[in-house]
Amino acid sequence: MAIIIDGKAVSAATREAIKNEVAELKEKGVTPGLAVIIVGDDPASRVYVNNKKKACAELGMLSEEYALPAETTNEELLGLINELNGRKDINGILCQLPLPRHLDEKAVINAIAPEKDVDAFHPVNVGGIMTGDYSFLPCTPAGVMQMLKHYDIQTAGKHCVVIGRSNIVGKPMAMLMLHANATVTICHSRTVNLAEECKRADILIAAVGKPKFVTPDMVKEGAVVIDVGMDRDENGKLCGDVDFDAVEPICGAISPVPGGVGPMTISMLMRNTLTAAKLQNNL
Ligand code: NAP
Repeated sequence: MAIIIDGKAVSAATREAIKNEVAELKEKGVTPGLAVIIVGDDPASRVYVNNKKKACAELGMLSEEYALPAETTNEELLGLINELNGRKDINGILCQLPLPRHLDEKAVINAIAPEKDVDAFHPVNVGGIMTGDYSFLPCTPAGVMQMLKHYDIQTAGKHCVVIGRSNIVGKPMAMLMLHANATVTICHSRTVNLAEECKRADILIAAVGKPKFVTPDMVKEGAVVIDVGMDRDENGKLCGDVDFDAVEPICGAISPVPGGVGPMTISMLMRNTLTAAKLQNNL
């Protein structure tokens, strides 16, 4: 029987620690503040934004929401970011992606001051992840690392295979595993013999976006399997990139969906906002 990596429990422990640190910071007169910008009315984005606001309230942080209409112009959005960049009480800024098509996502990411870029998407922060010299890590890969640490899963010298090479998950995930001294293989849609590559993994991380994509023939006996996917199965039910029921019996540890990586992502955003507040106040 595999160990089930309980993201909810790790997330709860992480949030408890953050809550205590926020309380200490408040005693020094600093309340971490996060500004969340949402443009348009995408229902999934609305759920994410609500969850972020809820997490801020739960941990004693300030949150401000800027809900802008879908027809907002680039100038208006960049103007708002510029204003938030200058506010002392706002330590973190995030703009919920994806944006409506007419908006320039790259310009928006580049406009957020790197020291307030709590999603770690700005090129300065991306560069820091490459060199291993960073203040913020992108939330989802950081959440995976926190889960591995919590379960005392060794990474040094292990062979890690990451399926997916997106800028948000796959690439930074691979880099963090490299910094943690794993030997890393990155797979993608052009990878030849994907199953064979995956089967060599001691730690297999799936960030593909395809329901139940990882099947038992791709998994080594006893491997640690981390499922980043947030997909819908044929019945519209939330599931991951890994065929959990089929893979669980052969692996050593596995993170489920729901209840795995998902709950970690917002906790790491809260961690980044706290870090930003400390850095901006020289604490
Ligand atoms: P993405 O940008 O669509 O990237 C998917 C990656 O998978 C790409 O690199 C793609 O390869 C690769 N891929 C697609 N089909 C493949 C195949 N048949 N064989 C091998 N590789 C294949 O997705 P993403 O933003 O990284 O997200 C991945 C998953 O994680 C999604 O389910 C998303 O919902 C989930 N997610 C979860 C969280 C969370 O908080 N839990 C956060 C972010 C994302 P190419 O580069 O060659 O196209």
